[in-house]
Amino acid sequence: MIEHAEVLHRGDDSGNEMLVRFRLPSGLEIFGLPTKNTYGGHWDLGPTWNYAVMSDKPFLVDAGRFGQGKKLVAMLEKIGISTADLDFVLISHGHEDHDGGLAELVDATCLNVKAHAIYGRLISTYPAKSPTASKRDFPAKCWHCFMPETFYTQNCLEYHKALQGLKVDPIGDGQTEIGPDIRTCHLPGHNPDCLAVRLGKEAIIVGDIILPDISPWPTRKSLFNEVAAVIKPHYTDAAAIFGLRCYIRSLKKLIEIASGAPGLLVLPAHRFYYHGRWNPVDLENRAKELLAHHITRCGAIIDILKNGPKTAEEIAAAHFEEELLEGYGSIMAANEIVSHCELLIESGDVVAVAGNTYAATGSMQFETDIQEEI
Ligand SMILES: [Zn+2]
Ligand SMILES: [Zn+2]
Repeated sequence: MIEHAEVLHRGDDSGNEMLVRFRLPSGLEIFGLPTKNTYGGHWDLGPTWNYAVMSDKPFLVDAGRFGQGKKLVAMLEKIGISTADLDFVLISHGHEDHDGGLAELVDATCLNVKAHAIYGRLISTYPAKSPTASKRDFPAKCWHCFMPETFYTQNCLEYHKALQGLKVDPIGDGQTEIGPDIRTCHLPGHNPDCLAVRLGKEAIIVGDIILPDISPWPTRKSLFNEVAAVIKPHYTDAAAIFGLRCYIRSLKKLIEIASGAPGLLVLPAHRFYYHGRWNPVDLENRAKELLAHHITRCGAIIDILKNGPKTAEEIAAAHFEEELLEGYGSIMAANEIVSHCELLIESGDVVAVAGNTYAATGSMQFETDIQEEI
C-alpha cells in the first residue's frame, strides 16, 4: 500500500480504472485516475496515471491516451468532481498516452491547457519544414518519433489532427509557479517537453521521467535536427533538451529535489499499481537505480563491441532478451542503443564507422562522464 492512499474504486490487476485518493498531511487531496493504454505485450506500460490536484485552483495532470478524454471526465464525476471546478489541465509531456485524450477532454470541458513551451510548437504542422514528404501532414512532434511510416500513417493521423489549433499556455524552462507552493520543473530527456509538478515538500508528479518497474526510454540527441527548424531560435542546443545525457541531468536534478524533501510522495504515470500490487517510488533511490542502469547498459554495449563493429540493431539483438525484440520492440530497442551510443561517442569510447555501425575505441571514459555530468 502507498502512504496516504485510499482506494475508492478497485480496478483490474494492472490498475486500469482504479480510483485512488491521496490525502497529504497538509490536507491537500490528489486523486489518481489511471486510464487504459493499448500497448500490450512485453513493452506494456500499464495504464496512464492521470492526477487531479485539489489545490485552491484544482487542476488535472494529463489526459490519458487517444479516446480516453470522456472516460476521464466520467471518472472525475464518479468521485464527485465536476470539470467546472477545475482550472486547467497540464500535460506532463507530448506522448500519445498522456495527451491523446486531450482534444476530447477540452471539447467536453473547455478546460485551459498548460504545457511546456516546446509542446505547443511541436503539436502544429509545418508542411514546408517537414523533414520527409511522408511527414508533411504530421505535426513536428511526429518528426522526432522513431516509429516507422507504416505505424504512424495507420495509427496516428487522427490523434495528431485532433490536437491541431489547440490553444496551449506555455510553461517555461527551470521552475515555474503554477499555484501556491506548486511548481513545474522542466526535466527533459525522456521527451524535450517533460515537466514534473512539485506540490510543496509533500508530493511530486513525475510523468514518465521516473517510473517504478521499468526504465523510461531516453530520446536520441540526433532527433533535435528533425525539429530544430520549428523550435529555433529559442532552443539551439540539442544537448539541452534531447538525448541520454540530458536525461541523466534530469535524474540528477530529481536526486537534488529528493535530498531537500525527504519522504516526498512520488506519483508516477505508469506501473504505480501493477500485477495486483503497489510499486512505491523512493525518488532518490529510484533515480540512482536508473543512473546505474544506464551505466550498466553503456558497459554492456562496449562489451558487445569488443568482438568487432556492429549496427544498433545487432547490438540490440545481442543485448535485449528475445521477447523484447518482437514486432516494434526491435525498433524501440535499437532506438535505446543509439541513445547510449551517442553518449559513448561523446565520451570517446565508441566511434561511428559508417552510418549506423559502431566500434569500440578501447577507452572506458563514460562512467566518469556520467558521474560528473551536471
Ligand atoms: Zn512518455
Ligand atoms: Zn507514458
